[in-house]
Amino acid sequence: MAADPKAQKVVVVGAGPVGSLAALYAAQRGHDVEIYELRSDLRDPSTTPLNFTKSINLALSERGINAMRNAGDPTLLDHVMAATIPMRGRMIHGRRPNGDFFEQPQDYDIHGRTIYAVDRGELNKRLLDILERMPNVTFHFNHKLSGADFRKCRAWFEVQGKENPATATGRAKEIEVGFDLMIGADGAHSAVRYHMMKYVRMDYHQEYIDTLWCEFQIQPNEDVPSEQPMSRFRISPNHLHIWPGKEFMFIAIPSDDGSFTCTLFAPSLVFERLEVTPEQIPAFFDHHFPGVTSLIDPPELISQFRQNPHLPLISVKCKPYHYGSSAVILGDAAHAMVPFYGQGMNAGLEDVRILFGILDKYKRGDEGEASSASGLAADRRKCALAEYSAVRVADAHAINDLALQNYVEMRASVLSPLYRLRKFLEEA
Ligand code: FAD
Repeated sequence: MAADPKAQKVVVVGAGPVGSLAALYAAQRGHDVEIYELRSDLRDPSTTPLNFTKSINLALSERGINAMRNAGDPTLLDHVMAATIPMRGRMIHGRRPNGDFFEQPQDYDIHGRTIYAVDRGELNKRLLDILERMPNVTFHFNHKLSGADFRKCRAWFEVQGKENPATATGRAKEIEVGFDLMIGADGAHSAVRYHMMKYVRMDYHQEYIDTLWCEFQIQPNEDVPSEQPMSRFRISPNHLHIWPGKEFMFIAIPSDDGSFTCTLFAPSLVFERLEVTPEQIPAFFDHHFPGVTSLIDPPELISQFRQNPHLPLISVKCKPYHYGSSAVILGDAAHAMVPFYGQGMNAGLEDVRILFGILDKYKRGDEGEASSASGLAADRRKCALAEYSAVRVADAHAINDLALQNYVEMRASVLSPLYRLRKFLEEA
């Protein structure tokens, strides 16, 4: 196949869900795509998952699905959706004044439309599978971005781990890479963003909220054979389960083996207390999250709390998202948000669709003109990236704010009679 004179070299930093989808969009447009990822290949069983947790189950919604639908690969969506479970609403768990437990379903949509539970690692792997088939994509795992010059379009990566027998000086081996466009999808602590700040007057705000999270597992019903995963769930598989605790919250999201991945969200002080007195964890759960100790045995609850990491939640806002014609940041790198609106990854995937929609619009004006080397392509890309920042910043900041507000909704408002009345009137 003859090389396309308009093909650009696109370097994607970060092979998480957003970087992988961005690489696919770029590859579909015929660009030479190089993906650089700090960690080893997720599909290698010895790779330590992100955040050192076994998995994170996410809520995938139309915003993210639509971005994958428009990726130009008709197999992608089926491949990803095959590993999802539809969730038609929330299931609120609580205790009545007489002490009985209750479950109250709250559908998301009167027409029965759903969001979907998906394992983030599984979704990521499926995106990598699709990318692997593309001749114009190369992977560079164990490569950490260590520097970038966005005027000269050069970047430096440290080669990590086994692939880098330490040099005689003891310093990690570094390689230099050129590019036309760098897409930074390297997460909340983005190195691309950090280096971009030296070139652009970027406004930047980060905030750690005073809430930590810890993951738990509800195991499948072992009495049911594993060949029937949908019968192994111990609570409804088609709901996002919430135990609202006013100041804290416990949630459970189904996995396709019949288990649930659960998350405790609570103020750091509560974590500190439970770390000192772990024997009080079952009583804490019985008081605030009724019914959970019948799904996770108390000794198991204590052990999971002690073994699994207690992780912070960061919210990042910045602007603009680009520099000139050579760099743009997407996903958590641009707008990490607290997870309570279930939109962090979805919004990141949407970034990709919007960015390439704008690049395509400017490229159309480029038809029949000279190749990217003339500078014309770079000029058009510069306008496209500026438009991307202009349209995306306000939307991303809004989702960021909504995510923070939804914490109050999920952990407390869902229980209030006023909330239920408002919902009833909306649906009447
Ligand atoms: P990441 O997933 O962080 O990937 C970044 C990648 O870049 C990583 O692979 C990393 O190794 C790599 N990298 C980092 N630094 C470098 C470097 N210097 N050089 C090279 N590579 C580098 N979102 C939802 O949409 N729905 C949900 O229900 C939801 N629930 C969540 C629950 C929790 C508890 C948490 C913590 C988050 C949740 N999110 C949810 C948010 C979601 O996980 C993130 O928004 C999403 O993972 C962001 O994807 P990303 O590709 O932008 O970044």
